[in-house]
Amino acid sequence: MRYNRVLLKLSGEALAGDQKMGIDATTVADVAHQIKDAVDTGCEIAIVCGGGNIWRGKIGADMGMDRSSADYMGMLATVMNGLAVQNALEAIGVPTRVLSAIEMRQVAEPYIRRRAVRHLEKGRVVIFGAGTGNPFFTTDTTAALRAAEIQADVILMAKNGVDGVYSADPKLDPNAQRFDSITYHDVLTKDLKIMDQTAITLCKDNNIDLCVFNMAERGNIAKACEGVVIGTTISGGLKND
Ligand code: UDP
Repeated sequence: MRYNRVLLKLSGEALAGDQKMGIDATTVADVAHQIKDAVDTGCEIAIVCGGGNIWRGKIGADMGMDRSSADYMGMLATVMNGLAVQNALEAIGVPTRVLSAIEMRQVAEPYIRRRAVRHLEKGRVVIFGAGTGNPFFTTDTTAALRAAEIQADVILMAKNGVDGVYSADPKLDPNAQRFDSITYHDVLTKDLKIMDQTAITLCKDNNIDLCVFNMAERGNIAKACEGVVIGTTISGGLKND
């Protein structure tokens, strides 16, 4: 099944390259090319950028900072990543808009749901920055929230070097098995670590499918958009249960 509208979750780490911190221009350019290939399949693409390559709220909290302030710093980090992805996409001719959940008109449009949908309909890649705009949340939860708001067909969770969801950590357990498909119920009862529980619950309650796959394998984002079965698909969300 081909998807018409997808929400791509890019963790901050996906932009950091080998050093795992900061923004690596070559890595961002590579990610942009992969996204362009996905756009060329005719799919509408919205992106939620993480910020963990620059800052996480927990780092600040562990240093004794007020958690809310530390989280706002994390949200600003996601905007930096969003601008980097925008720059790399526009350099190869892909029209984009960055929409920020925290108003900063000089650098990004404010997030307005209907405007985001309009941009997508016009073939622009929409990049959501500043997470949900609220502390105590993550960009995984942002991905679930925005996917529900724009009625995305699926969340594509692009991982770096992890090709799906396993029954146990494959690095520690040689008997760990990769699931092709599982339900949200399994994820919650088996406590599988894919996204935080808030994000999983949001996906489950709103019946949003999630595809976890390895973006280190070139062409996988486009394949996922075309509905080729790669990685693990999590579905079985029920409304109102
Ligand atoms: N964050 C937040 N509210 C949100 C989204 C993100 O406070 O709605 C902050 C939080 O401090 C988080 C940081 O932004 O640690 C970076 O986001 P995240 O850790 O989800 O990034 P990723 O792990 O995907 O790179």
